[in-house]
Amino acid sequence: MATERTLSIVKPDAVEKHRIGAIVKMIEDAGLVVKAMRMVHLSRPVAEGFYAVHKARPFFGELVEFMTRGPVVVMALEGDNAIQKYRDLMGATDPAKAAENTIRKAHGANVGENAVHGSDAAETAKNEIAYFFPGHEVF
Ligand code: ADP
Ligand code: MG
Repeated sequence: MATERTLSIVKPDAVEKHRIGAIVKMIEDAGLVVKAMRMVHLSRPVAEGFYAVHKARPFFGELVEFMTRGPVVVMALEGDNAIQKYRDLMGATDPAKAAENTIRKAHGANVGENAVHGSDAAETAKNEIAYFFPGHEVF
């Protein structure tokens, strides 16, 4: 399997609930390696730019409001098959539909406030990591 990198965000709901450590533990226990990490309060333009692909969706305004209401933790993760592996670890977008032993099942509240983000494909992972981290900050 190929070594990949993916972008993870611990969203404001999980930061507010003091779940950063629990989520990072699940990530590391799954064999994914943290290669970059930073806490940041997203500005509105940065959140809108990050979620630009969802601009036409009815929940876009709510999503930007949520993602800017408090700090988040952004991470670049690396491992074998990291993109799909981390998607599997996160679980379904709606925590109510997420499988046991997933981050969203354990820490998500609802389809909007679902604790974590993870890149969905190789191209988006590359762009999303570059959106937050210059190359020299990915170790
Ligand atoms: P995922 O994060 O699982 O890749 P999407 O890319 O479809 O899911 O959506 C991006 C984010 O937008 C979700 O993680 C969630 O925070 C929010 N979102 C998705 N669907 C809804 C919805 N129906 N209502 C409110 N927020 C939503
Ligand atoms: Mg997505």
